[in-house]
Amino acid sequence: MEIRGEMLIGRASVYGQSGTLRAIDPASGEKLEPAFGCGGASEVERACRLAREAATAFRASSGETRARLLEAIAAGLQAQGGALQERAARETGLSPARLIMERGRAAGQLRQFALAARQGLDAGPRLEPGQPGRLPPKPDLRARHIAIGPVAVFGASNFPLAFSVAGGDTAAALAAGCPVVVKAHPAHPGVSELTGRIIQQAVAECGLPEGVFSLLIGDGNDIGLKLAAHPAIEAVAFTGSRAGGLALLRAAAQRPKPIPVFAEMGSINPVLLLPHALADRAEDIAAGWVDAVALNAGQFCTRPSLLLALKGESLTRLQRSAALKAASKPAETMLTPGMHSNYHQALQRLRSLPGVAELATGLPSPGPHAAQLTLFETDGATFLAAPELAEEVFGPCGLIVACRDLAELFEIVASLDGQLTATLQLDEADLPLARELLPLLEARAGRILANSFPNWVEVSPAMVHGGPFPACTDSRSTSVGIGAMTRFLRPVCYQNMPAPLLPPALQDA
Ligand code: NAP
Repeated sequence: MEIRGEMLIGRASVYGQSGTLRAIDPASGEKLEPAFGCGGASEVERACRLAREAATAFRASSGETRARLLEAIAAGLQAQGGALQERAARETGLSPARLIMERGRAAGQLRQFALAARQGLDAGPRLEPGQPGRLPPKPDLRARHIAIGPVAVFGASNFPLAFSVAGGDTAAALAAGCPVVVKAHPAHPGVSELTGRIIQQAVAECGLPEGVFSLLIGDGNDIGLKLAAHPAIEAVAFTGSRAGGLALLRAAAQRPKPIPVFAEMGSINPVLLLPHALADRAEDIAAGWVDAVALNAGQFCTRPSLLLALKGESLTRLQRSAALKAASKPAETMLTPGMHSNYHQALQRLRSLPGVAELATGLPSPGPHAAQLTLFETDGATFLAAPELAEEVFGPCGLIVACRDLAELFEIVASLDGQLTATLQLDEADLPLARELLPLLEARAGRILANSFPNWVEVSPAMVHGGPFPACTDSRSTSVGIGAMTRFLRPVCYQNMPAPLLPPALQDA
């Protein structure tokens, strides 16, 4: 499969005429071939019109049909694995081992959604027989969920396979029966085109309308804003920065017909070290935390960047261990030159804050966009007085906050914004304190962990990858796991409907 720098609009391949875009190899700074032709208003219009035309037939398609589509995409990802991984490695700087794992995750997730599509969209249709003799008479009510309509998907920079063109949002929308228009992430257009071609081919092989899938490429925010504003689009799924997510939320709200925006936007993922666990396992916790902060240059929305503990001898041991471990961690290449530069600016801001000290730095590495692990430390009063310390720094950066006492720890937790995750490091003797903290954490985080670190997000029915604002724009859903499909479904109730008109799943038989 060749990369030609083209968008995929229905069954057509289109070289855009609104400027060009090139991927950059972040490891070397080299601009990669080919130049991608960017789309504009006419390509957005064409992709959205095709999606709208496809929506009714795709909504009515059987779960089996959608399952076959998802399985064909998964098979394509595996068949084209070498080419995908090679290009993804060049466009992102991520390691081959990481990309092999990610491709398996992407294929596995598509297969999980295929299974869900086969089993039916809801936990089960709801049937309530009428009670004509009741006063007032109760009508016969039957409800099911249907696809919301075309979904605009904005993939993540840090998961070019599992959270991008054929990632979780696309899989969830297709499983629900929604056509998808993807806006390719500008950092990995080549891997986007390759993946898009796999989906385009699968749509054709399954005999589905061509508008079930399109891929747009643009230079700058304009094409994404036009896509979110297009009247054919019924929902937006986004993973990325808070600025990007909020811009799309505003665009969607300003439409004559507003639509939901499911944006996942970063988080600092606090880790609370409870006193007995800290005293018993300071060194082990330090090692696990430093690994979790440094992993893949810290480019995880689930990176646990904030560590909270009571000050004292145990925390000093943990800090000493963390500093030693950090000093041996080599710098890793960041995904884009822009992220690398943002990371360094954020470090400068942290260094300039009174009361914040640098605890340790990792080893430098060659390469223009390698980011050194950097750990900071501060006290609870400084943290509470400086809201910027609670802002996400995207990259391998962590902050340890030494709290004066439990009251200050509780005050800090209560001050935190919405989070994707919160972690408790606890021993049995810490359970009473954990029980008191739990309601505060439940109110702030989508996933609460005990004695582990949150980077890995299992794709499974019980997973919640979401959380209150500003982690997400809508805390009622998840973007990982089968539950992600519910974002793209809406309930319809049929009242006193003659049996021949009812959908098969709602008929008495
Ligand atoms: P980003 O800059 O927000 O870009 C994501 C997508 O949105 C891209 O396609 C981008 O394309 C588009 N976009 C950005 N700003 C826009 C705007 N104002 N209007 C319309 N479209 C816009 O995200 P990123 O490149 O991944 O940057 C990293 C940040 O994302 C970090 O802060 C990180 O925490 C967060 N992140 C979160 C998660 C998560 O799961 N929650 C995962 C990965 C990253 P254009 O720039 O071409 O418009």
